[in-house]
Amino acid sequence: MKKTSCLIAFVIMLPFATWSLAAAAPKPLVYVTFWFDTEDFILPEADDAAKRLAEMFSERRVKATFKIVGEKARVLEERGRDDVIGALAANDVAYHSTYHSIHPTPAEYTRDLDWHEGVSEFIRREGAGLETLRRVFGVNASCYGQPGGSWTPQSYAACRAWGVPLYLDATSHVNVNDRPFWYGGVLTILGLGDAVQRTGWTDDDLKEACAKFDRVHERLMREGGGIVSIYYHPCEFVHRQFWDAVNFAGGANPPRSQWKLPPLKSVAEQEQAFGAFESYLDHIVNHPDVRLVTARQIPSLYPDRVYSRPLMRSDVLAVARAFQERLSYVALDGRIVSAAEGLLALAHAVARLDGDSQPEEIALEFAYGPACLPRRFVTEGTFSGEAVRQAAGELLETVQATEQLPSIVWVAGQPLRPEDFAVTLASLVAEEHPLGTVPMRQGELAAKRYVADNAPGLWGWVIFPEGFDAPRMMELAKLQAWTIKPAALRGSN
Ligand SMILES: [Zn+2]
Repeated sequence: MKKTSCLIAFVIMLPFATWSLAAAAPKPLVYVTFWFDTEDFILPEADDAAKRLAEMFSERRVKATFKIVGEKARVLEERGRDDVIGALAANDVAYHSTYHSIHPTPAEYTRDLDWHEGVSEFIRREGAGLETLRRVFGVNASCYGQPGGSWTPQSYAACRAWGVPLYLDATSHVNVNDRPFWYGGVLTILGLGDAVQRTGWTDDDLKEACAKFDRVHERLMREGGGIVSIYYHPCEFVHRQFWDAVNFAGGANPPRSQWKLPPLKSVAEQEQAFGAFESYLDHIVNHPDVRLVTARQIPSLYPDRVYSRPLMRSDVLAVARAFQERLSYVALDGRIVSAAEGLLALAHAVARLDGDSQPEEIALEFAYGPACLPRRFVTEGTFSGEAVRQAAGELLETVQATEQLPSIVWVAGQPLRPEDFAVTLASLVAEEHPLGTVPMRQGELAAKRYVADNAPGLWGWVIFPEGFDAPRMMELAKLQAWTIKPAALRGSN
């Protein structure tokens, strides 16, 4: 009874404090990030292509991001290509897996692993190439992006462990409104709709690509700024066919002694490709209201303000009300909390109710989504306010110990899914409950819709074995939807 009055008082006394983040609005800019998946460790001509592209940027006093495969870094060193290493190092050095297309690729070996085993296996296998990269280039990688379509949710925990703050690629496994977003605690740029761009090699391609850039630039300026992602592979400027398609397609895994060189473009075709790209680069570099940014610079454009200052009671009430409508990320005044962060905020608010004292401020910590999908749980019931308060406290203890939401929340000895517990807490904070009883509510994690369903089209990479798919892995990926929220461009809100 006592606790219930506290809960009611908590709701009634919530101040509707607001604050303003109003600052002098800077002029919007369109940020453009050029990145090159630098992966072909078989064709020596690809080394020179990488160097030529790297120098093209340096000559213009701008930088691109080179996502380099560990084996490529090793091979450059073995071939004595200090000139290539130097040219790449003058740009931004990022990471693109240890062996790229040699089987098993990341999605292949994490396919049937659970969350924790997948994280450690990813770190073991891909950490080796990252070590090579760090040794050869003397820096940590600025970002990671998966080989081909070989995406895995566990790679995000590896990025955090490696101190790599950005996931930069172009794939449809997770997409939040065609904008940058947070997933697994890592800033992520994947699908950006028409803001993922490139030019083909012909003069007509170039004309069309420049016009498309202008159109998207205009749209982004109207929206208060944004980012354009442009990607290539150095090898595609010189080859007719990808190095891995000629060796590792459809699950093929020949030994090194049998690797074949991919066929080359003619010299004229190569010059046409470099020329078209150079004109495209000049069009963009000389465009007004454009700033080229590397992967190393991008995180500072998208600061996560949730961790810079605590949530207030009004924020917690806003989360509770939003969860009653939809269990997903919640936009507060000037910042956005993920469903996981919202659940933690509610858990703090309820767990710390004690006597008359209510938490004024709640400092949030990061938590991954649950490690597995529970198979046995209750779907209805009524609990005492005290039992719910205790369960909220235990949830916070679990998160503190594991940096992960639990797969089950036990309330008075009953197993609840975290989704149901989240909306039950939300109703407790947002509504009054009679006589100390809290009816259980049922919720579904709406943010799961941002994670693709396992479908054949998702695994269309030519390197995968025939018929490859990964239903269990995408189930794990959907559990990490708890961590999804849009990333807000600095100065845009
Ligand atoms: Zn690649």
